[in-house]
Amino acid sequence: MEDATIPTMKSSNTTTTSRRLVLLPLPFQGHINPMLQLANILHSKAAFSITILHTHFNSPNPNNYPHFNFVAIPGVAEDKHSLSDIGNVVRFLYYLNDNCMDAIQVCLERLMLEDEGVLCLITDAQWFATQSVANRLKIPRIVHRTSSVASFLSFAAAPRLLNTGYLQEFFDADMKSETLVPRLEPLKVKDLPKFMTSDPVDVCNMLELMVQGVKGARSVIWNTFKELEELELHTLKQDFPKPHFLIGPFHKYFPASSSSLLAQDQTCISWLDKYPPNSVLYVSFGSLVELEELKFLEMAWGLANSKQPFLWVVRPRSIKGSEWLEPLPHEFLDKVVEGRGHIVKWAPQQEVLAHPAVGGFWTHSGWNSTLESICEGVTMMCSPSFGDQFPNARYVGDVWKIGITLENGFDRGEIEGTIRKVMVDKEGLEMRDKVMKLKKNADHCLKKDGSSCSSVEDLVQHILSI
Ligand code: UDP
Repeated sequence: MEDATIPTMKSSNTTTTSRRLVLLPLPFQGHINPMLQLANILHSKAAFSITILHTHFNSPNPNNYPHFNFVAIPGVAEDKHSLSDIGNVVRFLYYLNDNCMDAIQVCLERLMLEDEGVLCLITDAQWFATQSVANRLKIPRIVHRTSSVASFLSFAAAPRLLNTGYLQEFFDADMKSETLVPRLEPLKVKDLPKFMTSDPVDVCNMLELMVQGVKGARSVIWNTFKELEELELHTLKQDFPKPHFLIGPFHKYFPASSSSLLAQDQTCISWLDKYPPNSVLYVSFGSLVELEELKFLEMAWGLANSKQPFLWVVRPRSIKGSEWLEPLPHEFLDKVVEGRGHIVKWAPQQEVLAHPAVGGFWTHSGWNSTLESICEGVTMMCSPSFGDQFPNARYVGDVWKIGITLENGFDRGEIEGTIRKVMVDKEGLEMRDKVMKLKKNADHCLKKDGSSCSSVEDLVQHILSI
């Protein structure tokens, strides 16, 4: 960020002189990245002292953050090492909120007894049970919501949708209903959070707890920016009347993130250097999506038939039943990948998207990936599969008009045609103009008079005065 000035300190109303913030990320890559970026922002902007409270599962690497203090929550999820150990994400969220509160309380009590004390607790919104701990210890809690405002509003509406029959339509119509959801337009019934399929009531209850946790918090910090979600911000302020700080895109304040849980393959950059501007399609489905082999093969042949160069991230064990690339035929590896493809296990995504050779991003529409793509002016091809990915893809396609969603899942013919639309056709070029305008907005909001920059200053004053 250009403006690195530290805002003038205001005297605190609290009896404590503590400047220590305790940040608690959810242990997933897409949540750890923005929380550690937020920690860096608050540390550099107002010299807050930072303690990161984290689980053993997916713990961040303290060596990359010598300026922070790291505290592991004892006994929690020490036996879990991978996604298959945790089973389903919704169950794991319940597990964390049901089992970690005593240990978190003990950690916070210990930190409060130290000379530094604790000024404020900032947790991921999905750590909803921490609101009770914060109340008991009389520590102010601020929520960090890692999604867009639009998708949060759709989550918050889940209990209403369950009661008014929309979720029933969602199941009856085999999750393909085109009906617009009232008060959530342009979202359609088919965009409602898909993880509801495991047990809609169970998930609705979880979303309700998350929403109650947000309501109980002092304020909310968002990794988005005002110009991107103007209308949604208006609804948010009506439905959740409390301070909201839209200070994103977080990852643009500092050079690429060092919170990666997997090693980023730097050969991506030298490989991209060989290609002309806007010629390569970058393909990555984030840190959690797992694919059936048939879909993976459709992807491969769609990429092959498109004749477009591609950089493809295939995470180990992300294809069900395979260690890595075993399902790919030799013919594909020898002819296609050798000629114009590069497959890696994990990429330096932010650098990849910023590379001039990248002209399109085939994404699962995770919020970080969507925002990172917008910030580099890269158009998208969307294959959402659960959670907030559907609302994100709907906004990319229908609101911002900077990408196309594959509506029929994974069909090689549709994939080939969509790649061409995004990368070379007139439609793709028009989308590129639009995403470049959003990129300019994103650049501007971080400048001295920009919306996110002022919001950070407001946030600092807010924290100092609670
Ligand atoms: N990411 C990365 N390398 C990769 C793929 C993803 O560093 O090869 C990062 C990406 O930049 C983003 C995060 O992992 O910050 C993924 O978050 P997102 O919200 O997009 O998806 P999730 O993993 O939560 O589904």
